[in-house]
Amino acid sequence: MKYKTVVEDNIDILVCGAGLGGTGAAFEARYWGQDKKIVITEKANIDRSGAVAQGLYAINCYMGTRFGENKPEDHVRYARIDLMGMVREDLLFDMARHVDSAVHQFEEWGLPLMRDPKTGTYQREGRWQIMIHGESYKPIVAEAAKKSADKVFNRICVTHLLMDDAKENRVAGAVGFNVRTGDYHVFKSKTVIVSAGGASNIFKPRSVGEGSGRVWYAPWSSGSAYGLLIEAGAKMTQMENRIVLARFKDGYGPVGAYFLHLKTYTQNGVGEEYESKWWPSLQEIVGKEYLDPELSHSTHRPIPTCLRNHAMIQEVLAGRGPIHMVTMEAFQDPHLEEIGWHNFLGMTVGQAVLWAATDVDPKYENPELTTSEPYVMGSHATGCGAWCSGPEDVSPPEYYWGYNRMTTVEGLFGAGDAVGGTPHAFSSGSFTEGRIAAKAACKYIDDGKADGISVSEQQIESRREEIYKPLETYTVYRNEITAGSVNPNYINPRQALDRLQKLMDEYAGGVTVSYMTNEKLLNIGLKKMKLLEEDLEKVAAENIHELLRAWEIKHRQMASEAVIQHTLFRKETRWPGYYYRGDYMKVDDANWHVLTVSRRDPKTGEYTMEKAPCYHLVSMDEEEAA
Ligand code: AMP
Repeated sequence: MKYKTVVEDNIDILVCGAGLGGTGAAFEARYWGQDKKIVITEKANIDRSGAVAQGLYAINCYMGTRFGENKPEDHVRYARIDLMGMVREDLLFDMARHVDSAVHQFEEWGLPLMRDPKTGTYQREGRWQIMIHGESYKPIVAEAAKKSADKVFNRICVTHLLMDDAKENRVAGAVGFNVRTGDYHVFKSKTVIVSAGGASNIFKPRSVGEGSGRVWYAPWSSGSAYGLLIEAGAKMTQMENRIVLARFKDGYGPVGAYFLHLKTYTQNGVGEEYESKWWPSLQEIVGKEYLDPELSHSTHRPIPTCLRNHAMIQEVLAGRGPIHMVTMEAFQDPHLEEIGWHNFLGMTVGQAVLWAATDVDPKYENPELTTSEPYVMGSHATGCGAWCSGPEDVSPPEYYWGYNRMTTVEGLFGAGDAVGGTPHAFSSGSFTEGRIAAKAACKYIDDGKADGISVSEQQIESRREEIYKPLETYTVYRNEITAGSVNPNYINPRQALDRLQKLMDEYAGGVTVSYMTNEKLLNIGLKKMKLLEEDLEKVAAENIHELLRAWEIKHRQMASEAVIQHTLFRKETRWPGYYYRGDYMKVDDANWHVLTVSRRDPKTGEYTMEKAPCYHLVSMDEEEAA
């Protein structure tokens, strides 16, 4: 085969995916590992990669402890309430106690943080969010990571982790290929930090045809954080906890700055406030503990994100859509009007362009909002990801196995979307998680835990064969196309993606079924998913670009199967507004106040599911008193 094999050996810390999590990992690894070899692999280019690539207008996770604003415990309580109780409080606390220092560093590195002219403190958008001029957020943070790493390999799609042939369940590096040259890359490493991002385009998106690719989360987020970990046999948690976003229609423009800073509000199609009328019936589903509109007036107990979605979804289903964001009042103030537009220009240019193109001026017309297709990720208002060890000083025994943010595979760590049970980390929290993981990875090496790793040539060769198989399939069968792109011997990546999205949408609770599913549907979905997995053995790639798409779809498929397995396991409707189990339409705390944990056996592909305790380590009392 024409592609070279390039081997990078003796790596101490390999960072797979250099978004905010990966950059934090590389930066911190250098601090604790002055003598260590740190290597970054990135599918795109580190300067503009990950979910923050196009910039952000806010940092959504900042405690402000130095200004007396919030304590880490406050953030744990907030995230717990927002996620209907289901979080890893040890991991959340650990992130929250370190996140401010990361934000201060960003400022030192040149990120312009807005200041409140009256107080001199950072300009707050909401209780947790501070405002930034963040179009260049990612290049600024990337610079620190580039200076910390020995080498940065851009344009490498990591397809698999390497496993130690000497000791079972221990990681030994990763392999992938260069998406420009096609070369095969082998990275032999003592530890791996997976920070390869969550998953968009798993469920059929609302945007199709000419709008396809316009999605809420980064379209290049192919669930590789999950695909890589699941394939290696790492345990996963809360994979059922997909997120649905309330967004400006078609451009997926963010609503946080509008709701929190501009104080805009929503109405139904006939100009009425609609949310509150859904609370009594919703309370019957979730109970008063999770929905108390009286308390929600304080900033301490906002109505959970999923429940706000529920009101929007139900109001539209009742025939009173569309939902509008009332911008016409706020936009009369020229300062707020400017912020409204800046907000998009700094992070979602597409929404501004779409409004300009479709003649929507929010000063004179209230724009439409809608709920998005579901996404599988773990750093916004949701907590999908790997089951990871927490910190020694906080975690109960079930949550602790030696090294902070280490998955259940030895030497394999996670950060950002890869770590489960830690919602509301956002960009700053993901970077912080990377730092935490890297510090622990250095200790793991210093403790001698990576000694004696060996990787056989046979493992490296068989992965090579597997990676290029889609090119081979194409070459062998390309003459048998019957019409257009149809070939009885293979499917192409686009066909596979369409099939996956349709399957997830219809059986696992996507947009076209108003987020509804049940046991019967999930089991049919699972059967079809197995067939898709089988057919993906025959995915064909016409060129290197399609080879990238082929591996992205394989990672997406792997993540999707986990979503179905978890959704099937949790027999309740924990997050109305994210999805509904029609056969168990209530929150069931007696049986399901637990975290769900799965493992896919790498040899057989069989899943085992278990319940893990959901410990509340931070008391609510202090908050109630406040
Ligand atoms: P978004 O722009 O929707 O991604 O949200 C940015 C931040 O604002 C996140 O921390 C959200 O959880 C939060 N947020 C958005 N909308 C609301 C709302 N209506 N109430 C409270 N927090 C919100």
